[in-house]
Amino acid sequence: MAELAGIGFRGVVALDGPSGTGKSTVARALANRLATRYLDTGAMYRAATVSVLDAGIDPADSEAVVEVVAKMQLEVSTDPDDPATILSGRRIDAEIRSAAVTAAVSAVSAIPAVRTQLVAQQRRIIAAAPTVAEGRDIGSVVWPQAQLKVYLTADEQVRAARRAGELGSDVGTVTADLARRDKFDSSRAVSPLRRSDDAVEVDTTFLSVDQVVDVLTDLALRRVSAFGGA
Ligand code: C5P
Repeated sequence: MAELAGIGFRGVVALDGPSGTGKSTVARALANRLATRYLDTGAMYRAATVSVLDAGIDPADSEAVVEVVAKMQLEVSTDPDDPATILSGRRIDAEIRSAAVTAAVSAVSAIPAVRTQLVAQQRRIIAAAPTVAEGRDIGSVVWPQAQLKVYLTADEQVRAARRAGELGSDVGTVTADLARRDKFDSSRAVSPLRRSDDAVEVDTTFLSVDQVVDVLTDLALRRVSAFGGA
């Protein structure tokens, strides 16, 4: 079924949820199964944060942040096997995962003008081709017309353990960082992290990546007449 699933899926899957739920891994695998593009919107907010830090600007200085972000040259590759983030022609895939960027990204992403700019870019990318897009506000703001909206959750300790494993860092530090970012992302005024009423909630605490991808593939195929094209 996995091979057949890729044929003719022409929709958009909106995959939202907090950090450490397996969103990125699941989104890339799902995009491969459905033969769609893959968009990591978190990487775009992280790239904006790199441009702010590179310019030596305080992420709390929203006016200066907006000015720098408006001028940045950001491109993203939507190949699920090679999702590149390119700032002014330079690949910054490793840099966007640094501790400094992770510490500052929630402040940058909470600024309304930054969101307006990046959401417009995200919509242009999604409009161009069938896409699995992951983030915090895809189903609620970026692409509310998505054929399938999914909200991934997982137990907080499991999320922290997964993130710590990926980063090779201490679980205590990661737990504190996740709690801080979740609180910030859920309580900001514009587009807070929240499950849309029409999103399917999938708790990944006890599921493997493959199991989650199987569930989501079935859901996507039921939403769109996939075989032979929609
Ligand atoms: O998904 P990731 O952890 O890389 O996202 C980094 C940060 O970018 C989040 O903590 C959040 O502040 C912001 N973000 C957002 N809206 C999105 C995706 C990410 O505000 N659609």
